[in-house]
Amino acid sequence: MLIYLNDRFVKEDEAVVSVFDHGFLYGDGVYETIRSYGNRIFMRDQHLARLRRSADAIGLTIPIPEHRWPALLHEAMTRNDLGDERTDAYLRITISRGAGGIGLDPALCQTPTLVIMTKPLTPPSPQTYRNGVSLIVAKTRRNLPSALDPQIKATNFLNNILAKREAIAAGAFDSILLNWESHLTECTISNLFFVRTGRLCTPALSCGLLDGITRDIVLSLAREARIPIDEGHFGIEAIHKADECFITNTSMEVMPVTIVDGHPVGVGTPGPLTQQLHRDFVANRAKFLEP
Ligand code: PLP
Repeated sequence: MLIYLNDRFVKEDEAVVSVFDHGFLYGDGVYETIRSYGNRIFMRDQHLARLRRSADAIGLTIPIPEHRWPALLHEAMTRNDLGDERTDAYLRITISRGAGGIGLDPALCQTPTLVIMTKPLTPPSPQTYRNGVSLIVAKTRRNLPSALDPQIKATNFLNNILAKREAIAAGAFDSILLNWESHLTECTISNLFFVRTGRLCTPALSCGLLDGITRDIVLSLAREARIPIDEGHFGIEAIHKADECFITNTSMEVMPVTIVDGHPVGVGTPGPLTQQLHRDFVANRAKFLEP
């Protein structure tokens, strides 16, 4: 695997970052995960815009000009024989504050570190979509937005990792995190939706969750299909009483959830609205790809 590190492609074993990098020392950095379908990148400009917003929010200068991204991402794919008719690509861009003396002052670091990694994107198996996945509600709460804004995709992911550890310990696929007011937010790497009496419900951004790109697409597809939407503040009981549940992110698209806290969601199989929205997503996907 060839990795883009700062200004060139290097072999995996040469892709090494300093122990003084503030990304390593303090989690001071931002990242974005992107995917392709074949050679076309999904929602490229939206992902790059979110990367820019994350970087701006922490006062980090992205070390390459905006216009270079598309060619660089494609070069990362082609150099690794990915992003073609055989293999979709997963791309991760990481930008950290860079190497500097020990201390929190970002001015200690002269140059940000930039990394682009790619690997084949392996989607969940058809069986996983057929069966759905299980979630628990974690004891770990989602970060308070006024403490760490969830819109910043930061390389400090401990909040989510602690919740993921709880899911693993419980034998579940993932965790739902509640916020400081015990309202539902999202899962560790995905947004949360559920269906109650024909209405599509999802926690509002003001609950403290990432404005997911797939979440946004699903909401517009639901609007087009005239499905009533409740974007609001929901307690844990709302998810326990749901008829259907699903989670969304760039690599899973729309994944049915059939068990929450050990109990079946609805009848315990992927629900009709979940399946309709996933079908609509797949049918409309070409609109969201590069030309
Ligand atoms: N929420 C969190 C915490 C995430 O890390 C992600 C994915 O990166 C998402 C939601 C889903 O976002 P997207 O649909 O933009 O991939």
